[in-house]
Amino acid sequence: MSIKIEHLNYVYSEGTAYEKHALKDICLEIPHGEFVGIIGHTGSGKSTLIQHLNGLIKGTSGAIYYNGENIYQDGYDMRALRSQVGLVFQYPEHQLFEIDVLTDVCFGPKNQGLSQQECEARALEALKLVGLKEKYYKSSPFELSGGQKRRVAIAGVLAMRPKVLVLDEPTAGLDPKGRDEILDQIAYLHKESDLTVILVSHSMEDVANYAERIIVMNKGQVMYDDAPHNVFKHYKKLEQIGLAAPQITYIMHQLKEDGLDVDENIINLEEAKESILKSLGR
Ligand code: ADP
Repeated sequence: MSIKIEHLNYVYSEGTAYEKHALKDICLEIPHGEFVGIIGHTGSGKSTLIQHLNGLIKGTSGAIYYNGENIYQDGYDMRALRSQVGLVFQYPEHQLFEIDVLTDVCFGPKNQGLSQQECEARALEALKLVGLKEKYYKSSPFELSGGQKRRVAIAGVLAMRPKVLVLDEPTAGLDPKGRDEILDQIAYLHKESDLTVILVSHSMEDVANYAERIIVMNKGQVMYDDAPHNVFKHYKKLEQIGLAAPQITYIMHQLKEDGLDVDENIINLEEAKESILKSLGR
């Protein structure tokens, strides 16, 4: 079970004055069950790339295989693909439209042809998973806060029981508490439901804390594709393309320079605490 991308290119508005080669020769394989972070400067191609994963955008050239089958072959069941590869958009407003939260979350399973009873059971299960309080189930999705809207949008995708959850900036605009809650919930789902998670994020901290692999996009190409520690070792190169290492990595470099015997390639607080205490002999 995997997603395999082979020499994928995508050109917006080909042959016009607005032509833009947004993806250039992308080759990637994402095995089932991985938690992958995708980072990159605005305009580097992240959103374009993830919209290919469930066939929303069709590559100008190249191929995508889902579980070994080329999704561009004649007769491929795109509907089935869309229920297995769930995409949560950057702006939850774009995928919320029903009169109340429960009806909204039922939309996906209903499209899958399930009975009303089964749709509601799935929707209730998904709303529980994302931790939305029951008192909101009959509210209009548009009356909710930003964080709650995100939860509903994620629940709407989870209700289809996807195998792959793709999230475009799920924490943008949220306060730190809302951000941690959403990401913890996603990490929990990844672990408990054996879900592949592909997380597009602007936050180096978020990907350092949660992803087991990071793909760095730059100008439509994959610049790095490696374990988080290895990617952030290139922080000087990342800075040149408008990214950075997590803040804690800079602090560790400074501590090392100041003479403390710490590991400077550390990317999260937990590791930093351990390394500092060790260097102090505690
Ligand atoms: P990111 O998600 O990393 O910000 P995008 O995938 O949105 O990057 O954009 C990649 C490139 O494609 C950018 O140069 C962007 O301006 C261009 N682009 C994105 N959407 C469109 C579109 N609908 N029409 C034309 N160009 C687009």
